[in-house]
Amino acid sequence: MPERPIIHQHSSSAEGALVNAYLVEAENGVVAVDSTLTVTDSKMLRRRLDELGKPLLAVLLTHSHPDHYGGLTELVAGDHVPILAPRGVHDVIRRDDPVKEEILRPMFGDQWPRHRTFPNTVVDDGETVVFDDVSFTVIDLGPSESPHDSPWLLGEDERTAFLGDQVYDHMHCFLGDGFFREWLANIDELSARFPADAVLYIGHGGPVDADAWDWQRGYIETFVAAVESGDWSDPERAQAGVVGAMHSYLPAEELSFLMELSVEPVAAKLGLLEPAPSQPS
Ligand SMILES: [Zn+2]
Repeated sequence: MPERPIIHQHSSSAEGALVNAYLVEAENGVVAVDSTLTVTDSKMLRRRLDELGKPLLAVLLTHSHPDHYGGLTELVAGDHVPILAPRGVHDVIRRDDPVKEEILRPMFGDQWPRHRTFPNTVVDDGETVVFDDVSFTVIDLGPSESPHDSPWLLGEDERTAFLGDQVYDHMHCFLGDGFFREWLANIDELSARFPADAVLYIGHGGPVDADAWDWQRGYIETFVAAVESGDWSDPERAQAGVVGAMHSYLPAEELSFLMELSVEPVAAKLGLLEPAPSQPS
């Protein structure tokens, strides 16, 4: 029997959106999950990989947002390795990257990588891939927190999962892609699927346990209700009302900018406001 893999969590700075990537260390190699956003954070991720002294075998992507794929170039650093995601994640990243460039370049300057690397290997829903005797199985969720999401299970049981941003760990959340109905349905399905003692490795904070599902559902429902109850004849006031409601639900500042960027797109999705150009994360 091979030894159990070791999961190294790599958390980026607040400047890098507090995003996590993971290095899953097997006996003879390492599989990465996501890649962080900035040049600095993804270089540090690569350094941690190099310190393990084992080759990079593959990278798995949990969804289509740039804080998870932006660091791929520095992470793979010229290694020819498979970068795996479902077809929908490949397509959304390629489709939206030019828009993300326009939004993220002014926010992050040279920290948003000039050259981005995209996934190169397609996996189907439920497909299991094995690297150095460690297996990973993808769940193709379709639209959820992002336009296309793809959590991964580690090993044969369902006790260890890399969920991407299906759950945030008591940080403000991005809802700007507008798929909150799909996201809530996926939360119902995933929370019923995993055993109570599952360890959930997520995109921001964590790891968390099953209690996190209820908190996340409450966050989304509170947000949508706050948008719906706003007086959109005065958009500034309506926006401030949503931000206030969310700071009551979660009295913290972490990633508040992601939530604030989400208010107008969700109001537009609900038909309360004219649609604006698309937003980052
Ligand atoms: Zn994220």
